[in-house]
Amino acid sequence: MRICSLASGSSGNCIYISSKDTHILIDAGLSGKKVREGLSFLGVTMDQIQAILITHEHSDHIKGLGVLSRKHHIPIHTKSNTFEAIMNKSSLGVINPMLFTPVVEDEPFFVGDIQVTAFKSFHDAVDPIGYTFISEGKKISVATDLGTYNDYIKSHLANSNVLFIEANHDIRMLEVGPYPFFLKQRILSDLGHLSNDRSAQLICELYHQGMSHVVLGHLSEENNMPDVAYASIEYELKNSLKHLSENLRIIVANRCSNSELICL
Ligand SMILES: [Zn+2]
Ligand SMILES: [Zn+2]
Repeated sequence: MRICSLASGSSGNCIYISSKDTHILIDAGLSGKKVREGLSFLGVTMDQIQAILITHEHSDHIKGLGVLSRKHHIPIHTKSNTFEAIMNKSSLGVINPMLFTPVVEDEPFFVGDIQVTAFKSFHDAVDPIGYTFISEGKKISVATDLGTYNDYIKSHLANSNVLFIEANHDIRMLEVGPYPFFLKQRILSDLGHLSNDRSAQLICELYHQGMSHVVLGHLSEENNMPDVAYASIEYELKNSLKHLSENLRIIVANRCSNSELICL
């Protein structure tokens, strides 16, 4: 399997995942042009994309969906409530409801030869979900916009070879930063985003010898920095895990461009 983030953060999210024969996008929070550009670096065209899986209706995850779906007629998978919320956003233009396939959490389905399972998250959207992907004996999990986590979420993310996880903010930077009080409260709440520290805690709880890559995503532009996120998570992992493999790669996803392509 392969995974590459085309962009990650509050200005737009889109992740590409593939097996030998199947190509998927998770979220479409970039312009159609940006998505096509990002894919072209990977030698992939939009015509090869078999499905767009949407996590939730916040605009940083769906901005490009109207244009992409009209131009390329790609099936859209998400929760029914989320699709309804998307259809009510006039800014996206018309989306053909025939492209929609409902997703039910905890019920695996296939796109080509990739088995996809959605799980519920706590983020402040109508019906937010994350996804796990299994193919060719490997597992990739995508868990951004989590808010918080519990045993249910951990059971879905268990045994991942690649864990794409949010490391949204550094708590100190958020506390002293420019955001208004209500926004700080929202981000810090269980319906907001995981801090670097909380993300590190979750990674430690999920770590196993088969985990080869951790990708840190959805970094806040104002309340985090790639070096800060990387350092806090590396520090915590090295301190808390006795059997941490030297081969585990920690990668910070770029805000507005392709990140490293991971091939399993
Ligand atoms: Zn969101
Ligand atoms: Zn988001």
